[in-house]
Amino acid sequence: MILHPTYELNETGHLTVAGLDAVELAREFGTPVYLLDTDAVRAQCRLYREAFREFFGETSLPAFAGKALCYKGLYRLIAEEGILADCVSPGELFTAHAAGFLMENVFFHGNNKTDADLRYALELGVGHIVADGEDELDALDRIAAELDVRPHILLRITPGIDPHTHKKISTGNVDSKFGMAIATGQAMEFVKRALASPRLILDGFHCHVGSQIFDTEPFTDACDIMLGFIAAVRSETGYEAGMLNIGGGFGVRYTEADPEIDYRENIRLLGAEIDRMCGVYGVSKPRIVMEPGRSIVAAAGCTLYTCGTVKTIPGYRSYISVDGGMPDNPRYALYQSQYTVLNASRANAKADFTCTVAGRCCESGDLLAEGVSLAKPSRGDIIAVLVTGAYNYSMASNYNRIPRPPVVELSGGSARVAVRRETYADVAALDC
Ligand SMILES: *Cc1c(COP(=O)(O)O)cnc(C)c1O
Repeated sequence: MILHPTYELNETGHLTVAGLDAVELAREFGTPVYLLDTDAVRAQCRLYREAFREFFGETSLPAFAGKALCYKGLYRLIAEEGILADCVSPGELFTAHAAGFLMENVFFHGNNKTDADLRYALELGVGHIVADGEDELDALDRIAAELDVRPHILLRITPGIDPHTHKKISTGNVDSKFGMAIATGQAMEFVKRALASPRLILDGFHCHVGSQIFDTEPFTDACDIMLGFIAAVRSETGYEAGMLNIGGGFGVRYTEADPEIDYRENIRLLGAEIDRMCGVYGVSKPRIVMEPGRSIVAAAGCTLYTCGTVKTIPGYRSYISVDGGMPDNPRYALYQSQYTVLNASRANAKADFTCTVAGRCCESGDLLAEGVSLAKPSRGDIIAVLVTGAYNYSMASNYNRIPRPPVVELSGGSARVAVRRETYADVAALDC
């Protein structure tokens, strides 16, 4: 196993992904290609679903954050696994709807939903609209009246937590484009505004503290603040929230340097803390929802490339260039995200060639990794970047007019195309 059960080596020294030889997959589907082990995705959905039922309560369910990975087949998969979905744009709503996903099971987010977005969500019958601010409430009220519907809503609240310093009231996180802050008193006004509307049905609150979190503390801090807020709202208005959606954010092991994470154990600990805090604040336990994104799909996905130029600049460093790059994975260029890179053609050879992995764009910043060590490749070897299942395909662009790679699903020992490769004609298709 290399990092996650999806990745192993076979007798020919090739990397295998979900039991299939990566070099053969590259030959069959071409490169670059995104692979997704859908059995691993399903296992992760089940782990969340069962742990929620056991530790948060019978009615608690996870909602998959589609911004991590979005295509029709994935909505069909999560529907089969019986979990909910979180959509952050009308494009994601469209995709979920086109896949036949039950729109009642959708939470619709966004800090700046347009009137057209709100109308579209109401027409589709989205289960919960997560209102981000007061003018959105007004717009929603007006559009709901025009359509003569009564939408269920949550309010996005900013608890003021920095997930990395674990500071509870960090002004840095009160200062956010999302939601209304408790610390400034705006959250309470927001609740009163929502309760004043005879048309909007307030079901509870939502918050999201951050991403790539490896322990329960930021979540227990968030629950502490949010349950305290529920109690404060009750004493000021008499309204007691029945739902608390605490967002996404559990971490994923991208490299050996990241810790292993036991999701079930974290959910158990969090559930116990929520029970305890409900007692402390004297509130009934709300229906708990979380919105995992990367922790459902990241580990199950990897990207295969073909190695092109290999060069060493004496006294500086070595570069290998692959046939993809920032258009299919912008995360290193954006935030220096670390990945595990290996030579899938010689995965059993000593990883003693330290290099920078460059993409093919006309841009020096187009890198996938720096200072990684792998078995020295030659032109034509297959290079694998592991744990790219989240925020790669969903962030892909056509920069340099490069067509986006296909998504190939692997399950039970076979492979099928779930999103086909873009053609040059696709890339130019909108040009008039
Ligand atoms: C990004 C985001 C998520 C998912 O975060 P992950 O780190 O991928 O789990 C969930 N909910 C909201 C509101 C988000 O913004």
